[in-house]
Amino acid sequence: MPGLGEFELIRRFFDRAAPPAPGVALGIGDDCALLDAGGPELLAVSTDMLVAERHFFADVDPAALGHKALAVNLSDLAAIGARPLGCTLALALPEADAAWLDAFSSGLLALAGAHGCPLIGGDTTRGPLNLCVTVLGTVSAADALRRDRAREGDDLWVSGAIGAAAWALRARLDAGRWPAPGGPGPDGVGPEALAAARARLERPQPRVALGLALRGVARAAIDLSDGLAGDLGHLIERSSAACGVSLGATIEADALPVDAALAALPRPRGVALALGGGDDYELLFAADPARREAIASIGARIGLTLTRIGRIDASPGLRLVDADGRVTRPDARSFDHFA
Ligand code: ADP
Ligand code: MG
Repeated sequence: MPGLGEFELIRRFFDRAAPPAPGVALGIGDDCALLDAGGPELLAVSTDMLVAERHFFADVDPAALGHKALAVNLSDLAAIGARPLGCTLALALPEADAAWLDAFSSGLLALAGAHGCPLIGGDTTRGPLNLCVTVLGTVSAADALRRDRAREGDDLWVSGAIGAAAWALRARLDAGRWPAPGGPGPDGVGPEALAAARARLERPQPRVALGLALRGVARAAIDLSDGLAGDLGHLIERSSAACGVSLGATIEADALPVDAALAALPRPRGVALALGGGDDYELLFAADPARREAIASIGARIGLTLTRIGRIDASPGLRLVDADGRVTRPDARSFDHFA
């Protein structure tokens, strides 16, 4: 079926118009689904799968792989402002390698412990290496940081620094292997910056504490898994549909928090990586300008840089403005596994 992209595929075959179900507070299309199980809070659920050679290199450190398999899922809980409750792990393995399993499970369980997200079940089978984690968490309907709640005039913020994971992935794909530890990387990137960029790719830090702190402060959020421009496009699309206004966004190029690991690169290249890269697992969120001080104090309290990068406006599309006021239109398409 040529031309059937990932998001069109989901829409056409899985997100079919279904009668509203009383238990589903939020269905397909956000970072987590929200289920009403009858308690005071909603149950947040999300699943993300990592496939060998598609999402990771076969020679990756298994401890880092265990960490990342859970981290990308915790990132979806963070993006909706949910408190982690527990997780399950479905695992297909070509063979039972005790040393590999020891490292993989240690990496996963260490992160699970750090976030109070115990492993509560799963499934194990022989097959091509494939890791699928499901996370469960809780958030109230009023506090959930849904993708569809951004409104005209909101500030846009991003946590941490972005672009380094995408650069590291590109460097590894171009060279076919990682440069020797302690040695320099391509593009004039030194050994320490190379190690930092590689860590961003292999050991993302889910922003769970930030998601919790933004409850009642931010209006909407999404985690950056496929690149800022495309992920912002999802937030705008969902918010436009919800409020009936064709929203867009203006981003200030100079404000983008390009990762310090990319300091050796020309700024335009860093900006391009920050906008179009992926695997950042930072949070992009929209908030009323009246919340600027509250957001600054959250950043100081949890020790995470929070940067105001632009705003939501009522003019469709994505605009990038440079220091001289020149406007360009970055490609807002998301990474698509079937494009
Ligand atoms: P994320 O990057 O936050 O994990 P995705 O972009 O992968 O989200 O997915 C977009 C939305 O589509 C999510 O709400 C996800 O749950 C949903 N989705 C993805 N694949 C399927 C599927 N096969 N069936 C139903 N929903 C799906
Ligand atoms: Mg997500």
